[in-house]
Amino acid sequence: MGVRELSHFIGGKRIPGASGRFADVYDPNTGQVQARVPLADRPETEAAIASAAEAQQEWASWNPQRRARVLMRFLQLIQDEMEPLARLLSSEHGKTIPDAKGDIQRGLEVVEFATGIPHLLKGEYTESAGAGIDVFSMRQPLGVVTGITPFNFPAMIPLWKAAPALACGNAFVLKPSERDPSVPLRLAELFLEAGLPPGVFNVVNGDKDAVDVLLTDPRVKAVGFVGSTPIAQYIYETATAHGKRAQCFGGAKNHAIVMPDADLDQVADALVGAGYGSAGERCMAISVAVPVGEQTADALVEKLAERVAKLKIGRSDDEAADFGPLVGADALARVNGYVQTGVDEGAELVVDGRGFKLDGYEDGFFTGATLFDRVTSDMRIYKEEIFGPVLQVVRAHDYEEALRLPSEHEYGNGVAIFTRDGDTARDFCSRVDTGMVGVNVPIPVPIAYHTFGGWKRSGFGDLGQHGPDSVRFYTKTKTVTQRWPSGVKEHVDHFVIPTMK
Ligand code: NAD
Repeated sequence: MGVRELSHFIGGKRIPGASGRFADVYDPNTGQVQARVPLADRPETEAAIASAAEAQQEWASWNPQRRARVLMRFLQLIQDEMEPLARLLSSEHGKTIPDAKGDIQRGLEVVEFATGIPHLLKGEYTESAGAGIDVFSMRQPLGVVTGITPFNFPAMIPLWKAAPALACGNAFVLKPSERDPSVPLRLAELFLEAGLPPGVFNVVNGDKDAVDVLLTDPRVKAVGFVGSTPIAQYIYETATAHGKRAQCFGGAKNHAIVMPDADLDQVADALVGAGYGSAGERCMAISVAVPVGEQTADALVEKLAERVAKLKIGRSDDEAADFGPLVGADALARVNGYVQTGVDEGAELVVDGRGFKLDGYEDGFFTGATLFDRVTSDMRIYKEEIFGPVLQVVRAHDYEEALRLPSEHEYGNGVAIFTRDGDTARDFCSRVDTGMVGVNVPIPVPIAYHTFGGWKRSGFGDLGQHGPDSVRFYTKTKTVTQRWPSGVKEHVDHFVIPTMK
């Protein structure tokens, strides 16, 4: 099969790359290059910003209900195309088809949230703040905003950013991951088909060159980023130094505390799904299990090992596969390298996933599931994000030690506690130093109308993604103090009910 050449999407059209630079897009199942994505240079990126700046004026003048209707049509178009879109996503990312559908669905839920924008945008009002004086606030769009997104959720994260931003009246320039850009490009076409004016949603493919233009161009007012922590910090510092709003989400090391009273079969099932699903390439994956007490630890490790041994690794479109390949050869080398580091550091390797090969797909980016026991907090494999199918067990003597581990870790994205005791759960929720907490829920990604956001080095900036924070992030508040000395008090000439056309 020939190698497809992908494009940008600017001003409502697919625009071929002009810089002469390209990145390879792989099929992770075979390890073969399946497409080339252009890497934008300054003029191409500036063209996208200019297109967005022009289109934004009219888009912002539409009433919120009319904007919401575009999102409603978009929802329907994606639902109609769910199957092929999931296959396309899976073919570049390597996650299974049901998981790819979940990726799209979690994105759609934020689009559903954003269709409520007429209600969400309502401001505040104080009548008679002084004699004859009323005070009110309005939420107005920022203008052009940008999203720089990671490979691991190529549908969900662009939609988490774009849906609220667009609903608020902004125009959007998306710089998706160069590893799996085809779904973001298709989203742009579907937005157009749903009635979004050309130029309101643009896709610029590229790397640091394109990103640096977006971070410094004065027409871009806000930057939303998701990816690894060093890049998140760079984007946050550069964007804010150039006077932009920024929210930048980074890496993670999510712990699951397992109390002695928990149902260990349920916990083991939950941890295997949360640790190895999507080959561990989820920012909310559980990578550290913390059983409290030696008895709990021994029983949990036994149950985990049984389950890990039965996991089925296969092609991403194999319906029986629990997880597919990693996204790239570099990811495979990194994960296998960390497993070796763990062995060298003295962790106990209970199940070794290295060396797994899928028959007929020896060049695919596959690795098996790895389980470590007796990991300690001074080890590199504990401190650093591995981002692969590696679950590690850190044994805690008591609850206080278990609470300290995630609280003292440099990352603070998600955490979970498994217990039957409400008092322990309540104390944990209150005291743990982490942005999102699950109680008997291994992956506590908040629902669309609540806000998602990690703490510490998992999140730079003040506001989270989706939910009420997203409306605050993508609008600026204008506050009006008004006094009307006189007014028309008679003569009525409207007899037809007003409608929002
Ligand atoms: P990444 O940091 O390599 O890339 C993210 C984006 O930044 C991509 O669009 C990429 O092109 C761009 N980029 C990369 N290097 C850059 C540079 N030097 N300058 C400017 N831009 C650059 O991340 P990834 O490998 O695509 O995604 C995996 C990471 O994302 C993991 O660390 C994971 O934990 C994290 N993640 C976090 C969340 C969250 O909500 N906290 C969600 C998903 C993924």
